[in-house]
Amino acid sequence: MIIFGTKGYLYRLAILTLVCGHCGNPAAHTLSKRVTKFTLFFVPLFPISTKYLTQCTFCGAEQKVTREQAEQLQAQGTGGNGAQTHGQPQQQPRF
Ligand SMILES: [Zn+2]
Repeated sequence: MIIFGTKGYLYRLAILTLVCGHCGNPAAHTLSKRVTKFTLFFVPLFPISTKYLTQCTFCGAEQKVTREQAEQLQAQGTGGNGAQTHGQPQQQPRF
């Protein structure tokens, strides 16, 4: 009898400050990689699927991103020091 199945792994890649598309807050988001591996006799052999997602730490909303997006976000998260937004207009009242 052959016992096989799948096992999920979650890797946290980076923590990024993004404006959440769900709650609209500029909150910390975790960038995670979710890998599903094929297991045989409970031994993980090879990955079946790899998914990337960001999760808002404020409201918990998850958003799927592509591998390219995840790599971009990761590069932003590790490279810059917070000033990675593209000149986003800040609506602050000036007196
Ligand atoms: Zn949110």
